[in-house]
Amino acid sequence: MQTKLTRSPNLAARFIVSGEVIAFPTETVYGLGANVFDDAAIKKIFVAKGRPSDNPLIAHIGNLSQIELLTSHISTTAAKLIDRFFPGPLTIVLPKRNEVPAIATAGLETIGVRMPRHQLALSFIHACGVPLVAPSANLSGKPSPTTWQAVKADLDGRIACILKGEPTEVGLESTVVDCTGKNPIVLRAGAITMEQLQEVIPATRLAKHNANAPARSPGLKYKHYAPLARVVIVSNVQDIIPPPQSAFIGFHIPSHLDQFKRMQLCLTIEQYAQSLFQFFRECDADGINVIYCEAVSETGLGLALMDRIARAAKL
Ligand code: AMP
Ligand code: MG
Repeated sequence: MQTKLTRSPNLAARFIVSGEVIAFPTETVYGLGANVFDDAAIKKIFVAKGRPSDNPLIAHIGNLSQIELLTSHISTTAAKLIDRFFPGPLTIVLPKRNEVPAIATAGLETIGVRMPRHQLALSFIHACGVPLVAPSANLSGKPSPTTWQAVKADLDGRIACILKGEPTEVGLESTVVDCTGKNPIVLRAGAITMEQLQEVIPATRLAKHNANAPARSPGLKYKHYAPLARVVIVSNVQDIIPPPQSAFIGFHIPSHLDQFKRMQLCLTIEQYAQSLFQFFRECDADGINVIYCEAVSETGLGLALMDRIARAAKL
């Protein structure tokens, strides 16, 4: 299959209408979208990514009224979070309507819904005329793509079209919050922080990960975001003795500076988050063996950043 590259949301939308899957930018990472009501198109997402079929997809809406196409019950807590954080990098898990096909939610009775805060994404979804299910537009297991070039590197020839935009602003995937119970439960940390959520609903909690309990968010059991290189988390950058073909990302200049093949110094935590996945991809292209990532405190955006780094570091 020839993958079309375009900057036109209207042209990209035509592929969705004809049952194809399309990569598009959002403020978090690039997504791979299909019509939420088209079983055959959704199947193409799982095939193109090599994604396990028990990993549910997030539905992306272009305006608030489209929520009603996906769910028939929005609790008071969910309504408060939607009111405060939509559009934005927050996914809310709600009971799904019967009309949403089982393949979209991997058989779950719930669906994750998000409205991106990104003009090109919103124009594209609007032109499609339906909500889109969209996981990150990478091959399963690889770091999520934050540029259209990264999408092309993974999915060229496997999808119909890439809607080209700028590198993504946040660089990490959305926060996922389960709002089907009494209190919101954060299933995946992201750019909307725990602190921000608790400002609106103080009872919001982080999901406890119990290996024996069935995963509430099946995607979390998979290895994610992993470069080919080994990822090592370091608290004190002065302790690193880099072997050949090493790279570093973090805030402070490590000793043995000249022995790193690749290095990215970040000024802010936002910049660290924005560059992490792209840095992983550049390291892979460069044949790096070990990537040292400086640890950050697990508050604010640091919780999501450390979650992604820890997953990448898991053997
Ligand atoms: P991705 O789209 O690749 O960023 O992955 C989506 C993430 O959201 C995965 O971790 C999924 O398990 C999670 N997710 C999507 N839909 C649901 C749902 N209905 N219930 C729980 N988790 C979900
Ligand atoms: Mg993903």
